[in-house]
Amino acid sequence: MSAMLAETRPDQATAVVDAPPPKRKRVVIIGGGFAGIAAAHALRHADAEVVLIDRRNHHIFQPLLYQVATAVLSPAEIAAPIRQLEAKQRNVSVVLAEVTAVDLASRTIEAALPGAGVRKIAFDYLVVATGMRPSYFGHDEFARHAPGLKSLNDAETIRAKILGAFELAATTDDEAERARHMTFVLVGAGPTGVELAGSLADLVKVTLRGNFHRIDPAKSAIILLDASKRVLPTFAESVSRKVTRRLEKLGVKVLTGVKVETVDERGVVAGGSRIASATVLWTAGVAASPVPKMLGTKTDRAGRALVDPFLKVVEAPGVFVVGDAASLMQNGHPVPGVAQGAIQEGNYVGRLIASELKGRRVKRPFRYFDKGNMAVVGKNYAVLERDWLRTSGFLTWLVWAFVHILSLPQLQNRLRVQQQWLWSYFTGQRSSRLIPEPPRA
Ligand SMILES: Cc1cc2nc3c(=O)[nH]c(=O)nc-3n(C[C@H](O)[C@H](O)[C@H](O)COP(=O)(O)OP(=O)(O)OC[C@H]3O[C@@H](n4cnc5c(N)ncnc54)[C@H](O)[C@@H]3O)c2cc1C
Repeated sequence: MSAMLAETRPDQATAVVDAPPPKRKRVVIIGGGFAGIAAAHALRHADAEVVLIDRRNHHIFQPLLYQVATAVLSPAEIAAPIRQLEAKQRNVSVVLAEVTAVDLASRTIEAALPGAGVRKIAFDYLVVATGMRPSYFGHDEFARHAPGLKSLNDAETIRAKILGAFELAATTDDEAERARHMTFVLVGAGPTGVELAGSLADLVKVTLRGNFHRIDPAKSAIILLDASKRVLPTFAESVSRKVTRRLEKLGVKVLTGVKVETVDERGVVAGGSRIASATVLWTAGVAASPVPKMLGTKTDRAGRALVDPFLKVVEAPGVFVVGDAASLMQNGHPVPGVAQGAIQEGNYVGRLIASELKGRRVKRPFRYFDKGNMAVVGKNYAVLERDWLRTSGFLTWLVWAFVHILSLPQLQNRLRVQQQWLWSYFTGQRSSRLIPEPPRA
């Protein structure tokens, strides 16, 4: 642990600002997601003290969260401890803490360390990489009944809700109640909603086949709702049409152009009609984490910090925002909130700071390189879109699987996920079917 953090005693509720100024410049990175890790890595040869702060001790490979939620994978297979960065990179200190305030005037942040109160940490450079969180479009009361999918906890909650619903359906004698337990509503038909719906369809049709004598899970209703006119609105229309057809083939009912008005313990009201459901999942909006707002500089409607083409916060020298937390336009389009964008931005800012520390000014602004977008729709089928190129089907799915295996953090995860996928592909079985707490009706 760096001297700066050892300074303060655990019993101090609010701590002193870090005492002796460090010999080297200090770069504080908030967030150990795709962007924060990439920034830290790009600073590996820099003559700087890098402090990486995250409220979680692990980095999550979010593109596969839906597979944890549908019991294909277990949480540890898509996560990696952030702390192992300290073993790999000598100039990094990893701190488990939640950042609660940023003071640009004194160039300090406040971080709440578990069991150790709040510490102030001074910075020379600050990189905010705190990502997004689910947004209920001003209806936070929906969150109680419709969990979003952003963390491993969320994925486990959803998995328990889905699997628990079948247990409850199998024990009730009330037909209407059984139907409610076997109706799954997903609000939001972006990539997460589509992937979750497809995987859920495979679960009920294949994995759970024959597992219940009293009910037939294949008769479940899976409803994918969206207020926009088509699924995957950020993809081309032709791709949306293909994906809709594929989902329907899997038995998913796609309802687009339908606005959700209420979510409660009985289900949803959408487009004026009630859909009785015990499992409503929120795969719709996202908003930035509160940290960009703590800067007190300009943000967009979703709370993302407005940055210049160098990913700098204009009014705050030495302060950068990267990844999903940043709002940047390029060629008239926003840089998308995807893992590739976050990695490229984190990498760019890490290098930029390393150059500045050597006294060099970086003249080339950040350029996002679009490697293409993909989405999986159940087993054996994926779509890919890149510029004019559009492909779909089994081969695209193989490419998707290959790319995702390679992108996973840690070799052991790559090996384990590959093994789980092969097992699941040939047997239809999913090995992570756990309900940790008894399901509630
Ligand atoms: C379910 C799901 C599926 C997705 N699928 C895909 C996909 O298939 N392909 C794709 O390219 N992208 C996908 N994305 C988007 C992609 O995951 C994000 O674009 C990417 O994670 C953004 O990286 P980031 O580093 O900006 O933020 P994140 O990866 O979200 O990391 C933010 C980090 O900041 C930490 N943090 C937040 N607030 C604080 C605080 N106050 N103090 C300390 N730490 C804090 C968090 O704990 C987290 O570790 C998906 C996202 C989700 C949620």
